Amino acid sequence: MATGSLNINLDALKRNWAALDAKSGSGVETGAVVKANGYGLGSGRVARALAEAGARKFFVATAEEGAAVREVLGRGPEIFVFSGHMSGDTDMINDLDLIPMLNSVDQLTRHFEALPGAGFGIQLDTGMNRLGMEMAEWAAVAEIALAAGPRLVMSHLACADEPGHPQNQQQLDAFHAMTDGIGAPRSLSATGGILLGPDYHFDVTRPGVGLYGGLPFEAAEPVVNLALPVVQSRELEQGESVGYSATWIAEENSVIATMSGGYADGLIRAMSGRGHLFFEGIPCPIVGRVSMDLITVDVTHLNTVPRALDILGPEQTVDDLADAAGTIGYEILTSLGNRYKRRYIGDMG
Ligand SMILES: *Cc1c(COP(=O)(O)O)cnc(C)c1O
Repeated sequence: MATGSLNINLDALKRNWAALDAKSGSGVETGAVVKANGYGLGSGRVARALAEAGARKFFVATAEEGAAVREVLGRGPEIFVFSGHMSGDTDMINDLDLIPMLNSVDQLTRHFEALPGAGFGIQLDTGMNRLGMEMAEWAAVAEIALAAGPRLVMSHLACADEPGHPQNQQQLDAFHAMTDGIGAPRSLSATGGILLGPDYHFDVTRPGVGLYGGLPFEAAEPVVNLALPVVQSRELEQGESVGYSATWIAEENSVIATMSGGYADGLIRAMSGRGHLFFEGIPCPIVGRVSMDLITVDVTHLNTVPRALDILGPEQTVDDLADAAGTIGYEILTSLGNRYKRRYIGDMG
């Protein structure tokens, strides 16, 4: 078989959720963010595993994503939609009992007119300037909104992965100023905010990347293992080149393995000439350009050419690979392609 094997460890995912849950007090509910198809790992399998672990509040980016998650979770767990109530979403929100996080007066008006009495949340902007109502907007509608009983009032931190960043405290102060005394459940923190400590926890937390084994949750267990099969190997003489544009030239006689997997599988081209694959813990450098379907690796120092090499696993986490490619673990995860043979470990079916 010429496709890579992507193993997704749902037991590790559940343990990461429990570990993040344990970081807040008993009065704080730990939710789970499963947007972007569960950070690329399959929102259905991931959401079901997290529900087994104890999560009861799920967060997605769009109503369509919410629909996919509702299908596997059934009625019961709450599903919050960060993009709120967009035009065209009304039927989905109503039929699937999704909770839009209303981001503006326009969205609030749309929701209250289309679905009077239906559940909703409020998203506030405390300084990230991406989503949510600003102070003046909120002041204008807070009374009406609060009278209707929001299920959650939330904001999002822009710099939580940098504990010393002054914007954390500024956003915390702004969130207090906008929400103290409202009598509705509040949420400010994703993975990074959970690690900032109890002042940031409020009633509900919203971890995402840490569940999937990524920074800034340093204690996270890796959740993904990706092995690529060797399609072909060849011996090069000193001076021969490898790949498009001949960017790598053998300084000595070398053995090059050609791996199945490329930028079409989310192994982005920025990994060209950087990063490694691993065989039983031994690093093998990526040489030459990553192409659409193939990656070339120097295996000269191995005794034999293996059948497959690991590109993600304990030796190289999503963040290690991201570093090599000049990006972040989030992007590596959410780029993982559809050609891999995906296997779920610890799935109860
Ligand atoms: C993506 C997202 C999260 C989860 O963030 P992580 O850094 O992955 O934990 C939480 N809240 C909002 C609003 C988000 O957009």
